[in-house]
Amino acid sequence: MDSSSRISYELVNYSEDIQQVQDAFCKEGDMYVICMSKTNGQITSFSGEKSEEDFVDANFSSEIKNKLLESFVDGSPENVVEVAAPEDYFMYRAVAIRGDEGKVIGAWLCFGIDRGSIPAGTSLPEKVSTTTVVQFDKAVALMETVSKCYFKEKLYSHKLKARLSDEKNAGLIAEDKLKKNEIMTAILRLMESDDSFMKVSGEILKEAGLYVGCTNTGLIQLSTDGTTADMIIEWSSQEKRLSETFKGIPVEELPFMNGKPYTISSDASLPKSFEDFFGKFDIKAAILLPLNVNESEAMYLCFVSIGQERQWSVEDIRFANDIKHILYNILVKKITANSLASSYSALTAILQNAGYGVVVADVENRQILYTNDTFNTLFENEIDRVAVQELIFDKRYEISVLNGYSANGSGKWFDISLHNIKWVDEREVRLITFYDTTEIRSYQKKAEKQAQEDSLTGLFNRQACEKDISIEYHVAKKLGKEFAVLMFDLDNFSHVNEGLGYQAGDDLLEFIAHSINDISAISGKCYRVGGDEFAVLVDHEHFDSLDLVIKRIMNLFDNPWTIKDQQYYCTISMGGVKAPADITDASAILTRLTIALHGVKDRGKNSFEFYNEKSDVVMAEKLKLEQALRRAVEKGCREFSVYYQPIMEFIGGVPNCCGAEALVRWNSSELGLMMPDSFIYEAERLRLIGDIGDHVLYEAAKTCKHWNDFGHPEYKVNVNISVVQLLQKDFVDRVDKVLKATAIEPKNLTLEITESIEVTEMDNVVNTLFKIRNLGVRVALDDFGTGFSSLNHIQKLPINTIKIGRSFVSDIDTNDFSKAFVKTISDLADSLHMDICVEGVEDSKHVDLLGDYAVNLAQGFFFDKPLTKEEFGEKYI
Ligand code: C2E
Ligand code: CA
Ligand code: CA
Repeated sequence: MDSSSRISYELVNYSEDIQQVQDAFCKEGDMYVICMSKTNGQITSFSGEKSEEDFVDANFSSEIKNKLLESFVDGSPENVVEVAAPEDYFMYRAVAIRGDEGKVIGAWLCFGIDRGSIPAGTSLPEKVSTTTVVQFDKAVALMETVSKCYFKEKLYSHKLKARLSDEKNAGLIAEDKLKKNEIMTAILRLMESDDSFMKVSGEILKEAGLYVGCTNTGLIQLSTDGTTADMIIEWSSQEKRLSETFKGIPVEELPFMNGKPYTISSDASLPKSFEDFFGKFDIKAAILLPLNVNESEAMYLCFVSIGQERQWSVEDIRFANDIKHILYNILVKKITANSLASSYSALTAILQNAGYGVVVADVENRQILYTNDTFNTLFENEIDRVAVQELIFDKRYEISVLNGYSANGSGKWFDISLHNIKWVDEREVRLITFYDTTEIRSYQKKAEKQAQEDSLTGLFNRQACEKDISIEYHVAKKLGKEFAVLMFDLDNFSHVNEGLGYQAGDDLLEFIAHSINDISAISGKCYRVGGDEFAVLVDHEHFDSLDLVIKRIMNLFDNPWTIKDQQYYCTISMGGVKAPADITDASAILTRLTIALHGVKDRGKNSFEFYNEKSDVVMAEKLKLEQALRRAVEKGCREFSVYYQPIMEFIGGVPNCCGAEALVRWNSSELGLMMPDSFIYEAERLRLIGDIGDHVLYEAAKTCKHWNDFGHPEYKVNVNISVVQLLQKDFVDRVDKVLKATAIEPKNLTLEITESIEVTEMDNVVNTLFKIRNLGVRVALDDFGTGFSSLNHIQKLPINTIKIGRSFVSDIDTNDFSKAFVKTISDLADSLHMDICVEGVEDSKHVDLLGDYAVNLAQGFFFDKPLTKEEFGEKYI
């Protein structure tokens, strides 16, 4: 897994550094440069004064800039492009900035004014810099070289960082080591640079300052007459720059300028001279190291903490000394104009201290010229040493960075980088560095393992499940054996969560996880693949026990689980797939499992089924419905319209319309007209019912208010509310909002709830319903007698009306039980002063029979079917 690819390398992240490079170039090159990224547009600001900026803006349009940027063709090696200028004396060039795999990710856009060809009489603003064609092209070429090295370096360190940031648990130690390696690499590379001492040491001071985390780093130089000193180079993490005031300071005021090193932490008690000096610059702590060139202390390297207390650690001091050696070496190199390795002793001193292994080798003559201590310890093992020599002398090996080299004997891993340099005796040699990445890798491994585990239940997760299925598939196929995967989820898990709280839900999942993992045939092969979805793998060795495993899992749910001291029964729906069978791709197994599982759910839950091909079609349709439903809700529920079925009230035995039940219809642009039974369940499952329900509630209340305003103040409207809506935390507020928005009399609104409320949700629901009642809204218990009805419900719930389900009415003339049921309920309701409404009245026979009971409301096709708002208005208003 290449994790670094996920963190993209963006120029904007380095805009500050890029700005600095740009500023330097504009100043030295007598040209104007701006940096643009392909994805983020311009990322630097203009370097120069306002008058210059105005002039450049006027003559270097964004059109030209974009054209320049677009001129880099993907895959082409071209690094510099130009576009023709409208005026002869203007020059436009762009220098490519390349990112991963050499892709152009941005460019330096350069603008120059050729002073040789400015037409007579043209007046330029005073401040504007001019140049010559030759100079301009030289500057552009230099820009190309510098930029190439610069961004290569940035990209490399970015990748390292990206890799590290991905290891969630990579400890600080590893990061610190990496950081040190990174900066050491950066510095080593800078040492080879041909840039001026000022430039190179400027870069080094910056890296060093960032690493140590102090506020300023700098170099102080003694004047030639030895009486004063200036800070000649500085890096600062803050606004305040020492070098601004550190100019021409008399040596007497600089107590450290005596050839000795000083490391002064904030808690040190200072001699007066130091106190004065620190006070003058607000220095709280400092490391001051002499850089003795030619036996005289010409320069001082300083690490300074301005305005902030600071205690230097041993690490800091050691590091500062390393930097001193490096700067010294560069200085010597520049002075003697020799190659990097001109001073063997200086070089080895530096490399010896490096935290990574270094080898210098003459590949031509298969000779190892130098190894540092770290390398020797890393490759102590004879076998590794022989192996690594093969690599060192391998001429084909030309890439400069090789990640993930493994030394087998010691079990260590390395990232390797390779440079060709000139050795002391001028021969071309190879400098190879080995970064030990074993630790980072082990973090990576750990992180990978964690990534396969479900933190709640301790089972493996979906990713691990997919992997194991894939492995088992290939093994079983090879052996010609069969295996099976089962997947189940809890019926109505959301009720546990919402009714008893998430903690209870989590507890339940944990109990289940432990219980299935205890079944020996599948122990260690159990996965939590989704919220309340579990999978188990019955591998080929245990395939004989498949039936038993299925039985044992189903049996687990015969008994109640104890959560929050309550006994809670739950059921599961489970699907199974046997493989390999006709399966040609392991990934199809999970898909088939999902299909099988949904099949069980559709056919009433609480059972088990194996996958069969017919389910595929069902599934495809279900997916289509799901997508269409989502889109319909996203589009603002306009496709959902509300129909009204009149409800009749018997007054003196004569039925009169007293309002209607609102029934939703979905006129889907994709699927045509859909009745509620074919989408309400899905809408609940997908949590879309809230939006749809709000829409219906609002429409119905608005319509009822209209009836009330047009001669029927007594008309009421009934709106169906799903349990999912009822369990929403803000449900009461939503209802209240509709009351306010439509101005309907609360008593004219009745919410119909079904009795499919689980015991676990009871307290919540009862609470909500009381609040609804407090708003003045009425409540009806819908479809009474069809579910797991219990008279308890009627007593616990604050209801105004009981609606008796259709099935009791359809056979009331023939079935004695139905007759008795309707009688009992209507008597009970009567004694509790509740209304009773009978649904599904299709026949005059039913109406006659109902006269015998205490039923005062009725609804059914005998009176009317559900009507549109307009139809209802015509007939009943
Ligand atoms: P329900 O609450 O029992 O609604 C009554 C259903 O019975 C309606 O079906 C209605 O058209 C039908 N019906 C009325 N009279 C007769 C009759 O004499 N004979 C027969 N055979 N059927 C009759 P519909 O409109 O298909 O609604 C079905 C179910 O969908 C409703 O049952 C209700 O539970 C649900 N539903 C409808 N609209 C909504 C809504 O806006 N929100 C929610 N959550 N559920 C809704
Ligand atoms: Ca209803
Ligand atoms: Ca009903």
